[in-house]
Amino acid sequence: MRSQTLAASGQNQAFRDPFNVADEDGKRKWIYPQKPKGKWHNRRAWFTILILSLLFSGPFIRLDGQPLFLFNVLARKFILFGIFIGPQDYWIFGLAMLSFMVFIVLFTTILGRLWCGWACPQTVFMEMVFRKIEYVLEGDATKQKLLDKAPWTRDKIVKKSAKYFLFLLISFAIANLLLAYVIGVDALTKIIREPIEEHIGLFTGIVGFTALFYFNFAWLRDQACTVVCPYGRLQSVFMDRHTIAVGYDYERGEPRGKIHKGQERSGGDCVNCQQCVAVCPVGIDIRNGLQMECVNCTACMDACDTIMNKVGFDTGLIRYTSENAIVNKTGRLVTTRVISYAAVLVLLWSALGLAIVSRTDTQTLLLRAPGSQFIENGDGTVSNLYTFKIFNKTNHVVKPVIRLEDVEGKLIFAGSPDLTLEAAGMAEGTLFINVPKAAVKKRKTALKLAVYEGNKQLEKFEILFLAGESL
Ligand code: SF4
Ligand code: SF4
Repeated sequence: MRSQTLAASGQNQAFRDPFNVADEDGKRKWIYPQKPKGKWHNRRAWFTILILSLLFSGPFIRLDGQPLFLFNVLARKFILFGIFIGPQDYWIFGLAMLSFMVFIVLFTTILGRLWCGWACPQTVFMEMVFRKIEYVLEGDATKQKLLDKAPWTRDKIVKKSAKYFLFLLISFAIANLLLAYVIGVDALTKIIREPIEEHIGLFTGIVGFTALFYFNFAWLRDQACTVVCPYGRLQSVFMDRHTIAVGYDYERGEPRGKIHKGQERSGGDCVNCQQCVAVCPVGIDIRNGLQMECVNCTACMDACDTIMNKVGFDTGLIRYTSENAIVNKTGRLVTTRVISYAAVLVLLWSALGLAIVSRTDTQTLLLRAPGSQFIENGDGTVSNLYTFKIFNKTNHVVKPVIRLEDVEGKLIFAGSPDLTLEAAGMAEGTLFINVPKAAVKKRKTALKLAVYEGNKQLEKFEILFLAGESL
């Protein structure tokens, strides 16, 4: 990796010692990145519109009457792509999460922190929403610095109040969005419409999350990525020499040096203008190589391209590239590591697909009552006593009927229980199954049963039925 190359070349590695956003006394250094502009920023702006549209419309999208996604940790209800995951299917949820994690590992191995720069809500909101408001109200980096140092004049009070009021408003919107994904948009609308006292717990949740998001975007900012988020710290484990990431082509750029008019240039293409550092929202110098703090926001790519155009050099001194491409001038995306991760992912996705396809709307446990024997009835039938539990694995009311499939017979429920099952509900009881003697000639016969709702078969299963051998 770049650090090894730097070490081998004897280049100073001291930049790795301090924490780039704190001074020697450990006091935070506030970062004032310059406003990014350029083709990559424009592409990210369009992508942001797409991401935010999807994010904010997500809770309103329904599939078969279900929200597209729901992560109700409190009620332990989860919906993924319109599929309700109740307690009986938590293993499917676990499998889906495991697949997602392997996908992240594979994605990061190939494309580094592309997610962080383009789609992570933290970067999207911070760089493309909150930071934009700051640029509009307070101006570019230098003006922001001056404003922060200036005494509290009327102008400063107005600008700061407007900024923090807007920050609070957007934080409130994000808190509501989060809650819409947790409890669903219908429950959220109820909280908004009905008196607060009736939903004090959830209302407190909205206030708490608003405060949390406000704190995050107004103060924590880049430190959410560098200090809090574990993904950035794990990147060195996932990434290798072939990973594509925002990188500085040190083979082409070094030795760096100022450009002087009329003088023939003998060094590398980096003119040491520091523009890549000035725009960086995490305050690093990409020329030092791959660093944990870099969120791959592309701002330095645009900044450097602008300079390269000005001085008449080829653009792309900082670009999406890999260590291998910089050193060996070749790129290879499909490595043994990538193939191994992809194979695991295909296996997991196949298992997940099979689990979803074979999933039933109900799950019935029908077990012979402990210690009970068969009973021969006077009407030429044999009875077995069973206990049953029937679970509704959907998010709507189900009225199931259990039927014998391949023999004539009757199910006689003790106490006529109401089998109407609430969403994710359960019913239990005992029942006799009566079948004609002629149908059960062996000591143990497998009987086929099925659960229906109307004419729709929800589930089928087998049970053991006991009878006398002589019958
Ligand atoms: S180094 Fe470049 S890509 Fe990385 S965070 Fe800074 S500006 Fe963004
Ligand atoms: S913007 Fe480009 S030319 Fe300027 S210092 Fe950074 S890498 Fe060198």
